[in-house]
Amino acid sequence: MGLNRLEQVLERDADALRLDDELLDLFFKEPLTIAGAHFRTLRNHGTDSRPRFQPTLLDQVLHDFVGGIGMDLEVGRERAYGWKGLPGLKFPTDEGFDGREHDLVEDRLAGLQREAQECHRRTVTQTRCPAQPSRPVGLERDVQLTVEDRELVWRRLQGGRCTLDNLRWDLALGNMGSMSLSRAVVWFKRDLRVHDHAPLAAAVGFQDALALYVFEPEWLQSPECDASHVEFALGCLRELRASLADRGLPLLVRVGSAVAVLAQLHIEFSFTQLLSHEETGPGWSYTRDLEVGRWCAAQEIRWREFPQNGVIRRLRSRSGWSAAWKARMDEPVIPLSRGFRAATTSAQPALPTLGDLGLRPHAKTLQAAGEHAAQRTLANFLSERGAHYRRALGSPLAAATACSRLSPHLAFGTISLRTVHQASVAAIDEAASRQLAYSLRGFAGRLRWHCHFMQKLEDQPTIEFQNFARVYDELRADDFDEERFAAWCAGRTGYPMVDACMRSLLATGWLNFRMRAMLVSFASYHLWLHWRRPGLFLARQFLDFEPGIHWSQMQMQSGTTGINTLRMYSPTKQARDQDPEGLFIRRWLPELARVPRTHLAEPWRMSLTMQREAGCMIGAHYPAPIVDEKSALRSAKERLYGVRQSPEARAEADAIQARHGSRRSGLPPSGKGRSAVRKRKTTRKPEESAAPEAQGDLFA
Ligand SMILES: Cc1cc2nc3c(=O)[nH]c(=O)nc-3n(C[C@H](O)[C@H](O)[C@H](O)COP(=O)(O)OP(=O)(O)OC[C@H]3O[C@@H](n4cnc5c(N)ncnc54)[C@H](O)[C@@H]3O)c2cc1C
Repeated sequence: MGLNRLEQVLERDADALRLDDELLDLFFKEPLTIAGAHFRTLRNHGTDSRPRFQPTLLDQVLHDFVGGIGMDLEVGRERAYGWKGLPGLKFPTDEGFDGREHDLVEDRLAGLQREAQECHRRTVTQTRCPAQPSRPVGLERDVQLTVEDRELVWRRLQGGRCTLDNLRWDLALGNMGSMSLSRAVVWFKRDLRVHDHAPLAAAVGFQDALALYVFEPEWLQSPECDASHVEFALGCLRELRASLADRGLPLLVRVGSAVAVLAQLHIEFSFTQLLSHEETGPGWSYTRDLEVGRWCAAQEIRWREFPQNGVIRRLRSRSGWSAAWKARMDEPVIPLSRGFRAATTSAQPALPTLGDLGLRPHAKTLQAAGEHAAQRTLANFLSERGAHYRRALGSPLAAATACSRLSPHLAFGTISLRTVHQASVAAIDEAASRQLAYSLRGFAGRLRWHCHFMQKLEDQPTIEFQNFARVYDELRADDFDEERFAAWCAGRTGYPMVDACMRSLLATGWLNFRMRAMLVSFASYHLWLHWRRPGLFLARQFLDFEPGIHWSQMQMQSGTTGINTLRMYSPTKQARDQDPEGLFIRRWLPELARVPRTHLAEPWRMSLTMQREAGCMIGAHYPAPIVDEKSALRSAKERLYGVRQSPEARAEADAIQARHGSRRSGLPPSGKGRSAVRKRKTTRKPEESAAPEAQGDLFA
């Protein structure tokens, strides 16, 4: 009965399945039976990319066994598959085998186990047993499911990382039996935390494990990297190292190209598995991943990459994406891993300094780094700050406290998106006020945008360098104005809202969404600059630089996606709407401190007398506007709409929409009380629903 049940489950596409209790029970009680079922399934359904297991372990053992005692193979099979409640290799004699049969089987299995262990000692990663090249090593290993191994498996299962498919595959490759003999390296990248960390959970079961972080010159020298990013990473690593040491896992921090560091580490600590999260990074990291993949293959090291957000690798179609995102976000968070068996001492050399890494100090005041700071930030946002989220979103001043400020933590992975999602859903359900619940729902939706944009880069890495819609390639091709660019970077364009935003960003590394969009719109439309260099400049300034979101947004706010509405922000209108008292502008532009509130959006309109009285002479203390807003915008519109209305542009837009555009998700909003929200939504003021932050049509 157990076998039928197992086979049924094994036959199904089990990717998303978790082992239920009954199955677990069977697994621990009847490992060989499961192995038999498992191998048979693989044999029957093996694909070209997966090895076929023929003959199965059980058949092989039985063959020897029944041959030895002259029993019919089919009868032996029947009896073998009928074994019940056999822990490991102990066959009770009262189940149909006599003492002699039992001893023979024991002998044979013990022999196989010795052979496998010897083979494993000689070559841990070989897929063929050297003694008998025709036989996959995994078969022998599977017979060594010791009590200890079972405990390890338990821990993996409790860690929530073992789907039936994992289990099936690990059984096939003999990982269960060999787990206690192999060594793992957990490679930390943009996932600097111990909670909800799949690679860490997977490392618990290995004989030895090490954690590794690499400061790669490719990153440090990339045009997107800033010393502030590295300092934040160092802060996270400091805390991470202590948290890992508490759990018995040393964190090695090395400097060098990933392959070189891994190769050196392999000499020092011959690891058999590399465990990491998937990364949707810039071009250099994509190239590095390919190199690491090749190196692992050459060394016969198994590199296991785990997803860490809603981005789906090798996605075929955007249809159904939202549901897949939600399914990932609703998976249980992975409990904290403990009890590592470390390969070396936890005491490690001090972390490098910025200077050691060849970087100069920066002048930013940064958010607190590390996992604790991330958890605190999330908690105080969900309980208090978030109440004003929707209302305050557009204002650079109010948003600084009313937005979650989780973006650097999500970018460096000090908290998982799933943790944030699940905490938000819980907070919505338990919110003390309707306003808080309503605001948090808006926030929860943005977590989906996070992955929606990253998915674009995952699916099309070229968007970091090239227009989504290539019909726009000729626009802004050869007319990059260096002076305008320099003024924009320095916050000296003569438009106070643009300049205040830029200077605030240079000082803090953060800006709210609307003001980011305005900065880019100003660079792309008013100043007619191609998005790539402003994008690199902003990438360095944003502490939360997340390539997939960043490059998609850069192109969206520059009008080159081909599918989004063109949004051209007026910096004077934004100043009046979002900073009516002029508090933000005065804070960041001290030269305008005494300019009357009525003239803060357009100080160049002050008379000379007013300028004198305000102690701010335009052109001397503060620049005159770098371009005329109206004529600059008119010219930008003419050029863009000229291309946008062409048949080629329309055809290309259709293709882009099909590949990257959002679909109606059909998902309800997060949390309870949805009908009340819907009702309220319909009564929202028109200017609110038209706010660009809404972007509802784009991000189903
Ligand atoms: C030109 C431009 C570049 C941007 N570059 C980045 C970037 O490099 N990294 C980054 O995290 N965000 C980027 N954003 C999106 C957005 O501005 C930031 O996510 C947000 O301001 C971060 O602050 P918060 O965490 O307090 O956001 P909240 O409003 O509290 O939102 C919570 C989280 O939701 C996600 N989110 C919110 N808004 C968006 C959005 N419009 N698109 C995608 N995800 C969103 C982010 O992960 C954010 O941390 C960019 C926006 C623009 C216009």
